[in-house]
Amino acid sequence: MISKLLIANRGEIALRIIRACRELGVRTVAVYSDADAQAPHVRAADEAVNIGPAPSSESYLKGDHIIEVAKRVGAEAIHPGYGFLSEREWFSRAVRDAGLIFVGPPPEAIAALGSKTAARQLAIAAGVPVVPGTTEGLQDAAEALEIAQRFGYPVLLKAAAGGGGKGMRVVREPGEMAGALDAARREAKNAFGDDTVYVEKYIVGPRHVEIQVLADQHGTVLSLGERECSVQRRHQKMIEEAPSVAVSPELRKRMGATAVAAARAAGYVNAGTCEFLLDREGNYYFLEMNTRLQVEHPVTELVTGIDIVQWQIRVASGERLPFPADLTPRGWSIECRITSEDPANGFLPSTGRIEYLHVPTGPGVRWDGGVESGSVVGLHYDPMLAKLIVWANTRDQAIARMHRALEELTIVGIESSREFHLRMMEDEDFRRGDIEIQWLERKLPQLVGQRAPEDIMRVAAAAGALLASRDRGTRGASTGAVATTPVTNAWQQAARREGLRST
Ligand code: ADP
Repeated sequence: MISKLLIANRGEIALRIIRACRELGVRTVAVYSDADAQAPHVRAADEAVNIGPAPSSESYLKGDHIIEVAKRVGAEAIHPGYGFLSEREWFSRAVRDAGLIFVGPPPEAIAALGSKTAARQLAIAAGVPVVPGTTEGLQDAAEALEIAQRFGYPVLLKAAAGGGGKGMRVVREPGEMAGALDAARREAKNAFGDDTVYVEKYIVGPRHVEIQVLADQHGTVLSLGERECSVQRRHQKMIEEAPSVAVSPELRKRMGATAVAAARAAGYVNAGTCEFLLDREGNYYFLEMNTRLQVEHPVTELVTGIDIVQWQIRVASGERLPFPADLTPRGWSIECRITSEDPANGFLPSTGRIEYLHVPTGPGVRWDGGVESGSVVGLHYDPMLAKLIVWANTRDQAIARMHRALEELTIVGIESSREFHLRMMEDEDFRRGDIEIQWLERKLPQLVGQRAPEDIMRVAAAAGALLASRDRGTRGASTGAVATTPVTNAWQQAARREGLRST
Protein backbone atom coordinates (compact mmCIF):
# COMPACT_ATOMS: atom_id res chain seq x y z
CA MET A 1 0.00 0.00 0.00
CA ILE A 2 1.13 3.53 -0.79
CA SER A 3 2.31 5.00 2.52
CA LYS A 4 2.49 8.72 1.67
CA LEU A 5 0.38 10.56 -0.91
CA LEU A 6 0.58 14.11 -2.25
CA ILE A 7 -2.72 15.70 -3.22
CA ALA A 8 -2.33 18.03 -6.20
CA ASN A 9 -5.58 19.87 -5.62
CA ARG A 10 -7.49 22.12 -3.24
CA GLY A 11 -10.95 22.68 -1.76
CA GLU A 12 -13.48 19.98 -1.07
CA ILE A 13 -11.80 17.32 -3.20
CA ALA A 14 -8.46 17.72 -1.41
CA LEU A 15 -10.26 17.21 1.90
CA ARG A 16 -12.18 14.26 0.49
CA ILE A 17 -8.93 12.56 -0.51
CA ILE A 18 -7.29 13.35 2.83
CA ARG A 19 -10.22 11.69 4.62
CA ALA A 20 -9.87 8.57 2.48
CA CYS A 21 -6.15 8.48 3.30
CA ARG A 22 -6.77 8.83 7.03
CA GLU A 23 -9.04 5.81 6.98
CA LEU A 24 -6.48 3.82 5.01
CA GLY A 25 -3.58 4.87 7.22
CA VAL A 26 -1.88 6.73 4.35
CA ARG A 27 0.08 9.88 5.25
CA THR A 28 -0.92 13.00 3.32
CA VAL A 29 0.84 16.01 1.82
CA ALA A 30 -1.27 19.01 0.81
CA VAL A 31 -0.08 21.67 -1.59
CA TYR A 32 -1.47 25.19 -1.56
CA SER A 33 -1.23 28.54 -3.24
CA ASP A 34 -0.75 31.82 -1.38
CA ALA A 35 -4.52 32.36 -1.54
CA ASP A 36 -5.13 29.05 0.24
CA ALA A 37 -2.67 29.41 3.12
CA GLN A 38 -5.56 29.31 5.61
CA ALA A 39 -7.65 26.74 3.73
CA PRO A 40 -9.06 23.72 5.62
CA HIS A 41 -7.27 21.20 3.38
CA VAL A 42 -3.91 22.66 4.41
CA ARG A 43 -4.63 22.07 8.08
CA ALA A 44 -6.16 18.66 7.54
CA ALA A 45 -3.11 17.13 5.86
CA ASP A 46 -0.12 15.71 7.74
CA GLU A 47 2.17 18.09 5.83
CA ALA A 48 1.55 21.07 3.57
CA VAL A 49 3.76 22.79 1.03
CA ASN A 50 3.26 26.22 -0.52
CA ILE A 51 3.55 25.97 -4.30
CA GLY A 52 3.22 29.58 -5.40
CA PRO A 53 0.94 32.54 -6.08
CA ALA A 54 -2.86 32.44 -6.30
CA PRO A 55 -3.34 32.03 -10.08
CA SER A 56 -3.56 28.30 -10.76
CA SER A 57 -1.21 28.66 -13.74
CA GLU A 58 1.46 29.60 -11.20
CA SER A 59 0.58 27.01 -8.56
CA TYR A 60 -1.90 24.14 -8.96
CA LEU A 61 -1.11 23.71 -12.65
CA LYS A 62 2.67 23.64 -12.21
CA GLY A 63 2.95 19.90 -12.60
CA ASP A 64 6.73 19.67 -12.78
CA HIS A 65 7.10 21.70 -9.62
CA ILE A 66 4.50 19.56 -7.83
CA ILE A 67 6.38 16.39 -8.83
CA GLU A 68 9.59 17.90 -7.41
CA VAL A 69 7.78 18.68 -4.18
CA ALA A 70 6.47 15.09 -3.99
CA LYS A 71 9.98 13.73 -4.38
CA ARG A 72 11.40 16.15 -1.86
CA VAL A 73 8.90 15.23 0.86
CA GLY A 74 9.13 11.52 0.14
CA ALA A 75 5.60 11.00 -1.20
CA GLU A 76 5.30 7.84 -3.29
CA ALA A 77 2.17 8.84 -5.15
CA ILE A 78 0.20 11.83 -6.42
CA HIS A 79 -3.61 12.09 -6.51
CA PRO A 80 -4.69 14.82 -8.92
CA GLY A 81 -8.36 15.12 -7.80
CA TYR A 82 -10.50 16.56 -10.60
CA GLY A 83 -9.82 19.60 -12.77
CA PHE A 84 -6.31 21.09 -12.75
CA LEU A 85 -3.80 18.36 -13.79
CA SER A 86 -6.14 15.39 -13.51
CA GLU A 87 -6.68 14.74 -17.21
CA ARG A 88 -3.35 15.87 -18.57
CA GLU A 89 -1.64 12.99 -20.31
CA TRP A 90 1.78 14.61 -19.86
CA PHE A 91 1.30 14.85 -16.11
CA SER A 92 0.34 11.20 -15.68
CA ARG A 93 3.42 10.33 -17.76
CA ALA A 94 5.74 12.73 -15.91
CA VAL A 95 4.63 11.31 -12.55
CA ARG A 96 5.36 7.79 -13.78
CA ASP A 97 8.69 8.85 -15.31
CA ALA A 98 9.67 10.36 -11.97
CA GLY A 99 9.23 6.92 -10.41
CA LEU A 100 6.04 7.90 -8.58
CA ILE A 101 2.53 6.43 -8.73
CA PHE A 102 -0.19 8.45 -10.45
CA VAL A 103 -3.53 7.75 -8.75
CA GLY A 104 -5.46 7.69 -11.98
CA PRO A 105 -5.26 6.11 -15.41
CA PRO A 106 -2.01 5.55 -17.32
CA PRO A 107 -1.04 8.24 -19.87
CA GLU A 108 -1.88 5.90 -22.75
CA ALA A 109 -5.51 5.64 -21.59
CA ILE A 110 -5.77 9.40 -21.12
CA ALA A 111 -4.39 9.88 -24.63
CA ALA A 112 -6.90 7.42 -26.08
CA LEU A 113 -9.85 9.11 -24.37
CA GLY A 114 -8.64 12.63 -23.64
CA SER A 115 -9.78 14.28 -26.82
CA LYS A 116 -13.45 13.91 -27.69
CA THR A 117 -12.65 13.09 -31.32
CA ALA A 118 -10.12 10.38 -30.34
CA ALA A 119 -12.61 8.96 -27.83
CA ARG A 120 -15.32 8.85 -30.51
CA GLN A 121 -13.00 6.96 -32.84
CA LEU A 122 -12.15 4.50 -30.09
CA ALA A 123 -15.83 4.05 -29.16
CA ILE A 124 -16.85 3.40 -32.76
CA ALA A 125 -14.06 0.82 -33.14
CA ALA A 126 -15.23 -0.89 -29.91
CA GLY A 127 -18.83 -1.08 -31.19
CA VAL A 128 -20.09 1.56 -28.73
CA PRO A 129 -22.94 3.71 -30.07
CA VAL A 130 -21.92 7.40 -30.35
CA VAL A 131 -23.94 10.58 -30.96
CA PRO A 132 -24.10 11.00 -34.77
CA GLY A 133 -21.42 13.40 -35.97
CA THR A 134 -17.83 13.65 -37.14
CA THR A 135 -14.63 12.27 -35.65
CA GLU A 136 -12.17 14.79 -37.10
CA GLY A 137 -11.61 18.51 -36.53
CA LEU A 138 -13.34 20.92 -38.92
CA GLN A 139 -11.41 22.80 -41.59
CA ASP A 140 -13.76 25.76 -42.00
CA ALA A 141 -17.36 26.95 -41.88
CA ALA A 142 -18.09 25.63 -45.37
CA GLU A 143 -17.24 22.11 -44.24
CA ALA A 144 -19.35 22.59 -41.10
CA LEU A 145 -22.31 23.71 -43.21
CA GLU A 146 -21.98 20.73 -45.49
CA ILE A 147 -21.89 18.32 -42.50
CA ALA A 148 -24.81 20.04 -40.75
CA GLN A 149 -26.82 19.71 -43.97
CA ARG A 150 -26.14 15.99 -43.88
CA PHE A 151 -27.17 15.45 -40.22
CA GLY A 152 -29.90 18.08 -40.17
CA TYR A 153 -30.21 21.05 -37.79
CA PRO A 154 -29.77 21.68 -34.91
CA VAL A 155 -26.13 20.65 -34.61
CA LEU A 156 -23.63 21.18 -31.83
CA LEU A 157 -20.10 22.44 -32.39
CA LYS A 158 -17.82 20.93 -29.76
CA ALA A 159 -14.20 21.47 -28.82
CA ALA A 160 -12.21 18.23 -29.17
CA ALA A 161 -10.30 19.16 -26.02
CA GLY A 162 -13.52 20.33 -24.33
CA GLY A 163 -14.50 20.14 -20.70
CA GLY A 164 -16.80 21.99 -18.34
CA GLY A 165 -19.17 22.87 -21.17
CA LYS A 166 -16.59 25.16 -22.77
CA GLY A 167 -16.12 25.52 -26.51
CA MET A 168 -19.65 24.31 -27.22
CA ARG A 169 -22.18 26.09 -29.45
CA VAL A 170 -25.63 25.04 -30.66
CA VAL A 171 -26.29 25.95 -34.29
CA ARG A 172 -29.97 26.01 -35.25
CA GLU A 173 -29.73 27.25 -38.82
CA PRO A 174 -27.04 27.85 -41.47
CA GLY A 175 -26.88 31.61 -40.84
CA GLU A 176 -25.52 30.99 -37.32
CA MET A 177 -22.70 28.67 -38.39
CA ALA A 178 -19.79 31.02 -39.14
CA GLY A 179 -20.23 33.07 -35.96
CA ALA A 180 -20.72 29.99 -33.77
CA LEU A 181 -17.63 28.30 -35.21
CA ASP A 182 -15.50 31.38 -34.53
CA ALA A 183 -16.83 31.63 -30.99
CA ALA A 184 -16.35 27.92 -30.23
CA ARG A 185 -12.80 28.03 -31.62
CA ARG A 186 -11.90 31.14 -29.65
CA GLU A 187 -13.28 29.73 -26.41
CA ALA A 188 -11.52 26.38 -26.98
CA LYS A 189 -8.21 28.08 -27.74
CA ASN A 190 -8.45 30.18 -24.58
CA ALA A 191 -9.52 27.36 -22.30
CA PHE A 192 -7.50 24.44 -23.66
CA GLY A 193 -4.86 25.92 -25.98
CA ASP A 194 -6.36 23.83 -28.80
CA ASP A 195 -9.00 25.19 -31.17
CA THR A 196 -9.99 21.87 -32.80
CA VAL A 197 -13.79 21.83 -33.14
CA TYR A 198 -16.01 19.06 -34.55
CA VAL A 199 -19.74 18.56 -35.15
CA GLU A 200 -22.34 16.43 -33.36
CA LYS A 201 -26.04 16.20 -33.98
CA TYR A 202 -27.69 18.24 -31.21
CA ILE A 203 -30.02 15.79 -29.50
CA VAL A 204 -33.23 17.34 -28.18
CA GLY A 205 -34.74 16.02 -24.95
CA PRO A 206 -32.30 13.31 -23.78
CA ARG A 207 -31.10 12.61 -20.28
CA HIS A 208 -27.46 12.67 -19.26
CA VAL A 209 -26.79 9.30 -17.70
CA GLU A 210 -23.25 8.21 -16.89
CA ILE A 211 -21.66 5.00 -15.71
CA GLN A 212 -19.00 4.90 -13.01
CA VAL A 213 -16.23 2.50 -13.91
CA LEU A 214 -13.53 1.10 -11.66
CA ALA A 215 -10.64 -0.95 -13.07
CA ASP A 216 -7.67 -2.62 -11.41
CA GLN A 217 -4.24 -3.46 -12.80
CA HIS A 218 -5.13 -7.14 -13.17
CA GLY A 219 -7.75 -6.90 -15.89
CA THR A 220 -10.90 -6.48 -13.81
CA VAL A 221 -13.12 -3.65 -15.08
CA LEU A 222 -16.37 -3.07 -13.19
CA SER A 223 -19.41 -0.88 -13.62
CA LEU A 224 -20.64 0.66 -10.37
CA GLY A 225 -23.91 1.66 -12.00
CA GLU A 226 -25.36 4.91 -13.25
CA ARG A 227 -25.73 8.50 -12.18
CA GLU A 228 -28.43 10.77 -13.53
CA CYS A 229 -27.03 14.23 -14.26
CA SER A 230 -29.72 15.86 -16.39
CA VAL A 231 -30.20 18.94 -14.22
CA GLN A 232 -27.77 21.18 -16.08
CA ARG A 233 -27.27 24.85 -16.74
CA ARG A 234 -25.07 25.83 -19.67
CA HIS A 235 -24.08 22.18 -20.13
CA GLN A 236 -22.86 22.04 -16.52
CA LYS A 237 -24.27 19.70 -13.91
CA MET A 238 -26.08 21.21 -10.92
CA ILE A 239 -27.72 18.19 -9.27
CA GLU A 240 -26.86 14.52 -9.61
CA GLU A 241 -28.50 11.38 -8.35
CA ALA A 242 -28.08 7.64 -8.25
CA PRO A 243 -29.77 5.58 -9.46
CA SER A 244 -31.71 7.12 -12.39
CA VAL A 245 -35.50 6.90 -12.64
CA ALA A 246 -35.01 6.17 -16.35
CA VAL A 247 -32.77 3.15 -15.95
CA SER A 248 -34.21 -0.34 -15.45
CA PRO A 249 -32.05 -3.20 -14.15
CA GLU A 250 -31.84 -4.50 -17.72
CA LEU A 251 -30.74 -1.12 -19.14
CA ARG A 252 -28.26 -0.71 -16.26
CA LYS A 253 -26.68 -3.98 -17.25
CA ARG A 254 -26.45 -3.02 -20.93
CA MET A 255 -25.07 0.47 -20.28
CA GLY A 256 -22.64 -0.95 -17.75
CA ALA A 257 -21.37 -3.50 -20.27
CA THR A 258 -20.95 -0.76 -22.88
CA ALA A 259 -18.96 1.43 -20.48
CA VAL A 260 -16.77 -1.51 -19.50
CA ALA A 261 -16.14 -2.27 -23.18
CA ALA A 262 -15.07 1.34 -23.84
CA ALA A 263 -12.78 1.31 -20.78
CA ARG A 264 -11.24 -2.01 -21.81
CA ALA A 265 -10.63 -0.75 -25.34
CA ALA A 266 -8.60 2.13 -23.86
CA GLY A 267 -6.60 -0.08 -21.47
CA TYR A 268 -8.21 1.78 -18.61
CA VAL A 269 -7.08 1.48 -14.98
CA ASN A 270 -8.47 3.27 -11.90
CA ALA A 271 -11.76 5.23 -11.65
CA GLY A 272 -13.37 6.75 -14.75
CA THR A 273 -16.79 7.69 -16.04
CA CYS A 274 -18.50 6.98 -19.33
CA GLU A 275 -21.01 9.68 -20.17
CA PHE A 276 -24.05 8.92 -22.33
CA LEU A 277 -27.12 10.67 -23.67
CA LEU A 278 -30.19 8.49 -23.12
CA ASP A 279 -33.32 9.10 -25.18
CA ARG A 280 -36.94 8.34 -24.29
CA GLU A 281 -36.86 5.09 -26.23
CA GLY A 282 -33.98 3.76 -24.14
CA ASN A 283 -31.35 4.31 -26.85
CA TYR A 284 -28.08 5.63 -25.49
CA TYR A 285 -25.13 7.32 -27.15
CA PHE A 286 -21.56 7.62 -25.86
CA LEU A 287 -20.52 11.24 -25.24
CA GLU A 288 -17.07 10.90 -23.70
CA MET A 289 -15.12 9.21 -20.97
CA ASN A 290 -13.85 11.33 -18.11
CA THR A 291 -10.51 9.92 -17.09
CA ARG A 292 -10.61 11.01 -13.46
CA LEU A 293 -12.59 11.03 -10.25
CA GLN A 294 -15.76 13.06 -10.78
CA VAL A 295 -17.35 15.74 -8.64
CA GLU A 296 -20.50 13.62 -8.33
CA HIS A 297 -18.80 10.36 -7.23
CA PRO A 298 -20.40 10.45 -3.73
CA VAL A 299 -23.90 9.51 -4.94
CA THR A 300 -22.47 6.27 -6.31
CA GLU A 301 -20.59 5.68 -3.07
CA LEU A 302 -23.78 6.03 -1.07
CA VAL A 303 -25.85 3.58 -3.13
CA THR A 304 -23.07 1.00 -3.58
CA GLY A 305 -21.28 1.28 -0.24
CA ILE A 306 -17.98 1.43 -2.13
CA ASP A 307 -15.54 4.19 -1.19
CA ILE A 308 -14.35 5.13 -4.68
CA VAL A 309 -11.46 7.31 -3.50
CA GLN A 310 -10.10 4.60 -1.22
CA TRP A 311 -10.35 2.13 -4.06
CA GLN A 312 -8.52 4.51 -6.38
CA ILE A 313 -5.63 4.44 -3.91
CA ARG A 314 -5.84 0.68 -3.36
CA VAL A 315 -5.95 -0.04 -7.10
CA ALA A 316 -3.00 2.30 -7.65
CA SER A 317 -1.18 0.30 -4.97
CA GLY A 318 -1.77 -2.86 -6.97
CA GLU A 319 -4.74 -4.36 -5.10
CA ARG A 320 -7.40 -6.40 -6.87
CA LEU A 321 -11.03 -5.29 -6.94
CA PRO A 322 -13.07 -7.72 -4.82
CA PHE A 323 -16.56 -6.69 -5.96
CA PRO A 324 -19.07 -8.72 -7.98
CA ALA A 325 -19.78 -7.67 -11.56
CA ASP A 326 -23.49 -7.18 -10.88
CA LEU A 327 -23.95 -4.51 -8.24
CA THR A 328 -27.50 -3.51 -7.35
CA PRO A 329 -27.86 0.04 -6.06
CA ARG A 330 -29.38 0.30 -2.60
CA GLY A 331 -31.71 3.20 -1.83
CA TRP A 332 -31.39 6.64 -3.40
CA SER A 333 -28.79 9.39 -3.25
CA ILE A 334 -28.91 13.02 -4.41
CA GLU A 335 -26.15 15.63 -4.57
CA CYS A 336 -26.52 19.40 -4.81
CA ARG A 337 -23.51 21.47 -5.82
CA ILE A 338 -23.41 24.43 -3.46
CA THR A 339 -21.65 27.20 -5.34
CA SER A 340 -20.84 30.83 -4.57
CA GLU A 341 -23.18 31.98 -7.32
CA ASP A 342 -26.32 34.04 -7.00
CA PRO A 343 -29.30 32.33 -8.65
CA ALA A 344 -31.45 35.45 -8.34
CA ASN A 345 -28.82 37.36 -10.28
CA GLY A 346 -28.11 35.15 -13.28
CA PHE A 347 -25.77 32.96 -11.19
CA LEU A 348 -23.28 35.79 -10.95
CA PRO A 349 -20.20 34.70 -8.97
CA SER A 350 -20.20 36.11 -5.46
CA THR A 351 -16.98 36.80 -3.60
CA GLY A 352 -16.08 37.82 -0.08
CA ARG A 353 -15.69 36.36 3.37
CA ILE A 354 -18.01 33.67 4.70
CA GLU A 355 -19.05 35.34 7.92
CA TYR A 356 -20.93 32.38 9.18
CA LEU A 357 -21.45 28.83 7.96
CA HIS A 358 -23.79 26.31 9.53
CA VAL A 359 -23.50 22.88 7.92
CA PRO A 360 -26.49 20.51 7.87
CA THR A 361 -26.19 17.26 9.81
CA GLY A 362 -28.56 14.50 10.92
CA PRO A 363 -29.60 11.18 9.41
CA GLY A 364 -28.42 10.43 5.88
CA VAL A 365 -26.65 13.75 5.29
CA ARG A 366 -23.09 14.12 3.97
CA TRP A 367 -21.29 17.42 3.49
CA ASP A 368 -18.18 17.35 1.31
CA GLY A 369 -17.02 20.92 1.79
CA GLY A 370 -13.90 22.96 1.29
CA VAL A 371 -14.77 26.10 3.24
CA GLU A 372 -15.60 27.13 6.80
CA SER A 373 -16.70 30.25 8.67
CA GLY A 374 -14.05 32.87 7.93
CA SER A 375 -13.02 31.47 4.53
CA VAL A 376 -12.48 34.08 1.86
CA VAL A 377 -14.00 33.17 -1.50
CA GLY A 378 -12.26 34.83 -4.44
CA LEU A 379 -12.36 34.53 -8.18
CA HIS A 380 -9.21 32.48 -8.67
CA TYR A 381 -10.83 29.08 -8.49
CA ASP A 382 -14.00 27.15 -9.18
CA PRO A 383 -17.08 28.59 -7.44
CA MET A 384 -18.04 25.26 -5.86
CA LEU A 385 -17.96 25.62 -2.08
CA ALA A 386 -19.23 22.21 -1.15
CA LYS A 387 -21.41 19.30 -2.15
CA LEU A 388 -24.43 18.46 -0.08
CA ILE A 389 -25.29 14.79 -0.48
CA VAL A 390 -28.12 12.78 1.04
CA TRP A 391 -29.09 9.14 1.11
CA ALA A 392 -32.51 7.64 1.86
CA ASN A 393 -34.47 4.50 1.06
CA THR A 394 -36.54 5.99 -1.74
CA ARG A 395 -36.23 8.93 -4.11
CA ASP A 396 -39.13 10.76 -2.42
CA GLN A 397 -37.48 10.39 0.96
CA ALA A 398 -34.15 11.55 -0.45
CA ILE A 399 -35.81 14.69 -1.86
CA ALA A 400 -37.50 15.42 1.49
CA ARG A 401 -34.19 14.87 3.25
CA MET A 402 -32.32 17.17 0.85
CA HIS A 403 -34.96 19.86 1.38
CA ARG A 404 -34.61 19.54 5.13
CA ALA A 405 -30.80 19.67 4.91
CA LEU A 406 -30.87 22.73 2.64
CA GLU A 407 -33.12 24.46 5.15
CA GLU A 408 -30.53 23.79 7.85
CA LEU A 409 -27.71 25.16 5.70
CA THR A 410 -26.81 28.74 6.60
CA ILE A 411 -24.28 30.76 4.66
CA VAL A 412 -23.89 34.40 5.61
CA GLY A 413 -21.51 36.78 3.87
CA ILE A 414 -21.65 35.59 0.28
CA GLU A 415 -24.41 34.51 -2.06
CA SER A 416 -24.86 30.82 -2.74
CA SER A 417 -26.91 28.50 -4.89
CA ARG A 418 -28.80 27.20 -1.85
CA GLU A 419 -32.10 28.76 -2.75
CA PHE A 420 -32.00 27.39 -6.28
CA HIS A 421 -31.64 23.89 -4.86
CA LEU A 422 -34.52 24.43 -2.42
CA ARG A 423 -36.79 25.46 -5.29
CA MET A 424 -35.63 22.42 -7.25
CA MET A 425 -36.59 20.05 -4.43
CA GLU A 426 -40.06 21.64 -4.42
CA ASP A 427 -40.49 21.50 -8.18
CA GLU A 428 -43.17 19.10 -9.46
CA ASP A 429 -41.27 18.06 -12.61
CA PHE A 430 -38.15 17.32 -10.62
CA ARG A 431 -40.12 15.42 -7.99
CA ARG A 432 -41.62 13.22 -10.69
CA GLY A 433 -38.16 12.72 -12.19
CA ASP A 434 -39.49 14.22 -15.40
CA ILE A 435 -36.31 16.01 -16.46
CA GLU A 436 -33.94 16.10 -19.40
CA ILE A 437 -30.83 18.10 -20.18
CA GLN A 438 -32.61 21.12 -21.67
CA TRP A 439 -35.32 21.21 -19.01
CA LEU A 440 -33.60 23.50 -16.52
CA GLU A 441 -32.85 26.27 -19.01
CA ARG A 442 -36.58 26.46 -19.80
CA LYS A 443 -37.59 26.26 -16.16
CA LEU A 444 -35.02 28.57 -14.62
CA PRO A 445 -36.87 31.89 -14.97
CA GLN A 446 -39.80 30.45 -12.99
CA LEU A 447 -37.61 28.79 -10.41
CA VAL A 448 -35.41 31.67 -9.32
CA GLY A 449 -37.37 34.61 -10.62
CA GLN A 450 -38.49 35.92 -7.30
CA ARG A 451 -37.63 35.55 -3.70
CA ALA A 452 -40.35 34.65 -1.24
CA PRO A 453 -41.03 37.41 1.32
CA GLU A 454 -40.63 34.99 4.25
CA ASP A 455 -37.09 34.28 3.09
CA ILE A 456 -36.21 37.93 3.35
CA MET A 457 -37.58 37.89 6.89
CA ARG A 458 -35.41 34.90 7.77
CA VAL A 459 -32.34 36.59 6.32
CA ALA A 460 -33.12 39.65 8.38
CA ALA A 461 -33.40 37.48 11.49
CA ALA A 462 -30.04 35.82 10.83
CA ALA A 463 -28.31 39.09 10.07
CA GLY A 464 -29.81 40.64 13.20
CA ALA A 465 -28.52 37.75 15.29
CA LEU A 466 -25.12 38.16 13.71
CA LEU A 467 -24.99 41.84 14.51
CA ALA A 468 -26.03 41.14 18.08
CA SER A 469 -23.38 38.46 18.47
CA ARG A 470 -20.78 40.83 17.04
CA ASP A 471 -21.74 43.33 19.68
CA ARG A 472 -21.13 40.65 22.28
CA GLY A 473 -17.83 39.88 20.62
CA THR A 474 -18.88 36.32 19.74
CA ARG A 475 -19.66 36.74 16.09
CA GLY A 476 -21.89 34.05 14.69
CA ALA A 477 -22.05 32.00 17.85
CA SER A 478 -25.75 32.52 18.45
CA THR A 479 -27.01 32.13 14.90
CA GLY A 480 -26.77 28.38 14.58
CA ALA A 481 -30.50 27.78 14.94
CA VAL A 482 -31.51 30.38 12.38
CA ALA A 483 -32.15 28.95 8.96
CA THR A 484 -31.53 31.63 6.38
CA THR A 485 -31.49 31.94 2.67
CA PRO A 486 -28.53 33.64 1.03
CA VAL A 487 -28.38 37.31 1.76
CA THR A 488 -29.98 39.24 -1.07
CA ASN A 489 -27.97 41.87 -2.86
CA ALA A 490 -29.83 44.68 -1.21
CA TRP A 491 -29.39 42.96 2.10
CA GLN A 492 -25.74 42.32 1.55
CA GLN A 493 -25.24 45.98 0.81
CA ALA A 494 -27.18 46.98 3.91
CA ALA A 495 -25.17 44.53 5.96
CA ARG A 496 -21.96 45.99 4.58
CA ARG A 497 -23.10 49.46 5.55
CA GLU A 498 -23.71 48.11 9.03
CA GLY A 499 -20.17 46.82 9.11
CA LEU A 500 -21.37 43.23 9.13
CA ARG A 501 -18.55 42.18 6.88
CA SER A 502 -15.31 41.65 8.62
CA THR A 503 -12.46 44.02 8.01
P1 ADP B 1 -17.88 18.75 -21.42
O1 ADP B 1 -16.73 17.80 -21.51
O2 ADP B 1 -17.54 20.14 -21.82
O3 ADP B 1 -18.61 18.66 -20.13
P2 ADP B 1 -19.77 16.94 -22.69
O4 ADP B 1 -19.50 16.28 -23.99
O5 ADP B 1 -19.60 16.10 -21.47
O6 ADP B 1 -18.88 18.25 -22.56
O7 ADP B 1 -21.22 17.56 -22.70
C1 ADP B 1 -21.70 18.34 -21.64
C2 ADP B 1 -23.21 18.41 -21.72
O8 ADP B 1 -23.62 19.06 -22.93
C3 ADP B 1 -23.89 17.06 -21.75
O9 ADP B 1 -24.12 16.57 -20.45
C4 ADP B 1 -25.18 17.40 -22.47
O10 ADP B 1 -26.10 17.97 -21.58
C5 ADP B 1 -24.77 18.45 -23.46
N1 ADP B 1 -24.46 17.82 -24.76
C6 ADP B 1 -23.27 17.34 -25.17
N2 ADP B 1 -23.36 16.82 -26.40
C7 ADP B 1 -24.64 16.96 -26.79
C8 ADP B 1 -25.38 16.63 -27.97
N3 ADP B 1 -24.79 16.06 -29.02
N4 ADP B 1 -26.69 16.94 -28.01
C9 ADP B 1 -27.30 17.56 -26.96
N5 ADP B 1 -26.66 17.90 -25.83
C10 ADP B 1 -25.35 17.61 -25.73
